[in-house]
Order: sequence, then structure tokens, then C-alpha cells
Amino acid sequence: MTHVFTPHISGTSRQYRRVLVTGGAGFLGSHLCDRLIDQGDHVVCLDNFSTGRRCNIEHLIGHPRFSLVCHDVVDPLAVDVDQIYNLACPASPTAYSADPVHTTKTSVLGALNLLKLATDRNARILQASTSEIYGDPQVSPQHEAYWGHVDPTGPRACYDEGKRCAESLFFDHARRFGTRIKIARIFNTYGPRMRGDDGRVTSNLIIEALRGTELTVYGDGSQTRSFCYVDETVDALMRLMATPDGIEGPVNIGNPDERTIGDFATIVRRLTGSDSRIAYRPLPVDDPRRRCPDISEAARLLGWIPTISLDEGLSRTIDYFRAELVREPTVREA
Ligand code: NAD
Ligand code: UDP
Repeated sequence: MTHVFTPHISGTSRQYRRVLVTGGAGFLGSHLCDRLIDQGDHVVCLDNFSTGRRCNIEHLIGHPRFSLVCHDVVDPLAVDVDQIYNLACPASPTAYSADPVHTTKTSVLGALNLLKLATDRNARILQASTSEIYGDPQVSPQHEAYWGHVDPTGPRACYDEGKRCAESLFFDHARRFGTRIKIARIFNTYGPRMRGDDGRVTSNLIIEALRGTELTVYGDGSQTRSFCYVDETVDALMRLMATPDGIEGPVNIGNPDERTIGDFATIVRRLTGSDSRIAYRPLPVDDPRRRCPDISEAARLLGWIPTISLDEGLSRTIDYFRAELVREPTVREA
């Protein structure tokens, strides 16, 4: 059954562009909602609150151009919108493997439901895809033309293959129905409003350092990631949405400043002033060895190159978690 939502919009409804953000109460989604409100859009934030939190969007509740809808994207929906950002999906390995079948359903059925909505309304739709579609890449940096190296049956497959299938559904809708699509392949993003308990390396290490407990590094710490500060990722998503029809992507969105996880832990320790020792634990199955975006397409199409250094972005994130630990000391018990 299709759920029909008619969010209350004050003033003349056609006065504003109406933008649906699925996963809007999550880490990335809530920052995106803030930026869209700032640029004068009416934002419909849709979320099932599985990993999202009300506190991320609390400050927007009651805003005349903000509506909140509690809904799961695996169920069809109808709402009058001009643009859709599809961010609904748990993103941390701990979160997406907690209910892997529902993770796949979220990516696949979610994409189908939102593509139908976009097609019916002639709305632009942007998919938050991921660097995980490259799996454990055999080339580095990863360019959009690389097809990836994904284990289709491993514990990360629910996320990786779900996102790959969503990309395929987006392109099929563009080819068959003329749907106005955009695909962003987002690389590791960090910043305020990450959950302290979702298991990602940035939040884990910062909380461990602030608590003075051991910093947990999986494997020998030689695997790499490239970290982009949240404001810059959100800026790139909005730039991609604003490109003319026909620019569909996929476009890599990430910071090419590649670091080993061992170095990353050392930087967190320095910036927090912690003297915690580093403890090495077994590497999770299928943990990618390298991750680094080739962002030449983003630079060419979006005029976008991230400039916030890892030291600067991490300092801001550390300030956020310091305040969180005062507000909620049990955010993630060691
Ligand atoms: P997040 O877990 O903080 O946010 C995801 C949001 O989606 C949450 O609010 C959650 O409650 C909601 N959600 C999950 N399943 C849903 C469902 N079935 N129906 C409705 N809502 C649902 O994660 P995030 O880091 O903000 O990631 C947002 C998007 O960006 C995800 O699609 C993720 O795959 C993608 N992405 C993020 C990163 C990153 O580093 N943060 C990297 C690559 C891709
Ligand atoms: N990692 C780690 N310690 C942690 C959490 C993660 O060493 O407490 C490692 C993890 O094995 C991976 C990298 O850090 O190699 C990034 O992990 P994250 O879950 O943040 O993102 P993803 O693996 O999805 O890129």
C-alpha cells in the first residue's frame, strides 16, 4: 500500500522548492537538511529512525519550511516533491550488518520506491551511493570507470551489492523512463553528529582517546582510508544536484588525502592530547585494503575540491564529541 504524505507547508506551497531527504535524521542527512533550509527550500525529512536520531534535527522542528515524516523507504510513498536526495540506509558496518536483509531491502526497494516517485513527479533524484561499490579495490586511486572487486556473499555484501543494485536501477530508470538521476559515490565522511556507538573508526577512536582507554585498530593498521569533512561532502551533493539534466554521474565525492588507519589513530591521539596506547585487534572479514578517490570528475563537473585538512576537520569533530560526552557520558561505554 502506498503511504501518501501531505506535509504541512505554510505560505503558498509553490513558493518554495520542495526537497525530500530520505535518511534526513542521520549524520549526513541532517547536515544536508540544514543547508537546504539555509538556501530557502522546503525540506521534507523522511526517516525510520533506525540509526538516525531526533536530536540531529530537533533544532529544525517547528521551522515553517521543515516537515518530518516517519516512514520506512521499503514501503511505497507518495509526496509532492521537486527534488529527492536518497540517503536512507545504515552506513556503518556495525549498523548495516545488524539486519543485513533489511539493509539490502532498504537499498533496493528504497531505490525502486523513490525512483517511481521521482518519475511520477518529474523530480530530480540523487542517490547516495558509496565507495563500497568498489569493494576491496585492485586499483588505486579508484576512478568512476573502475567496476570494482566485491565479494557478493560476504558480510559486507548486503551493503555493497544493495548499493550496486540501486545504481543499476537508477540507470535503468533513466534509460527506460527518462528519470532525472544523479549518482554520488561517497567516500568515508566524518564530522559532528556521527553516532558515538555506530562503530566507525572516527567516532570509535575519538571516544577512546577522550576516555583515555586503548585506541582499537583492526589488523596491523596498514589499510588505508581517505576522510572527507561532512560540510564538504554535503556541498558536493548539492552541487551535483544542481548540475543540468544529463549529468548523471556516477561522481566520486571524497577527499583524496589517503591515510593508513595506524597513522589516523596517531593523529587522533595527538589532537586529543591523549597518551592512550594503540591495541591491535583482528581485521574484520572483507575489510578493504585501500580506499582513495580519484576526484577529477568532481573537480571537472562540480568545480569541487575539498580543502578542509584532516587536522582541522578532526579538531572540530573532537570538540563535538567532547561536548557529547559531557551531555551523555554513556554514549559508548568502553
Ligand atoms: P546514518 O546511519 O547516520 O544515516 C542513515 C539514515 O537513514 C538514518 O537516519 C537512518 O535512520 C535512516 N534509514 C536507514 N534505513 C532506513 C529505511 N529503511 N527507511 C528510512 N530511513 C532509513 O548514515 P550516514 O553516514 O549519514 O549515511 C547517509 C547515506 O550516505 C547512506 O545512504 C550511506 O550509505 C551514504 N554514505 C555515507 C558515507 C559516510 O562515510 N558517512 C559514505 C558513503 C556513503
Ligand atoms: N577500524 C579500526 N578501529 C575501529 C573501527 C574501524 O581500526 O574502531 C578500521 C576498519 O577495520 C577499517 C577502517 O578502520 O579498516 C574504517 O572503518 P569504518 O568502519 O569507519 O569504515 P569502512 O570500513 O566502511 O570504510
